[in-house]
Amino acid sequence: FVLDVLAARIAAVRELAESWAKRPIVVGTAIVHKGRLLAQQRRYPAPDAGRWELPGGRVEPGEDEKAAVVRECQEELAVDVRPTGRVGTDVPLSNGMLLRIHTAELADPTAIPEAVEHHEVRWVTADELTALDWLDADRVLVHSLRDLLAEA
Ligand code: C5P
Repeated sequence: FVLDVLAARIAAVRELAESWAKRPIVVGTAIVHKGRLLAQQRRYPAPDAGRWELPGGRVEPGEDEKAAVVRECQEELAVDVRPTGRVGTDVPLSNGMLLRIHTAELADPTAIPEAVEHHEVRWVTADELTALDWLDADRVLVHSLRDLLAEA
């Protein structure tokens, strides 16, 4: 009987791990330049308007995460970035997806990111980044992002 209970528990944990692993990934990008982090302010949808997030978006089926980082930054900021690693933990989103942050640098350090579909793009210091009104999921990562800037 004890073994049956144990087996059921193991199956339940495995099922949970598998459902987690199947969650679609949303990549976010922590672009650091001259000791500052790039943050962008959303224009829509209404509940998110005025709140801040890292650039990024959904990884397309069959697409590499790093390729998604590069594509999303081209779409949202009109600049090329080079992914350099990862920061923070995965954050579950209310829509069932998983937010995963990659670090990146500007491929051309003189390029100026534009707010293509956002209200504003801003390079923030560690203190400024703490004060921004981040989307809930991005807010979870503020401590890791501060550490990232401290190392930069
Ligand atoms: O940009 P896109 O619509 O592909 O993003 C998918 C979802 O991920 C949205 O619900 C968006 O609010 C969320 N997201 C987030 N933080 C980010 C980027 C996206 O919570 N930095």
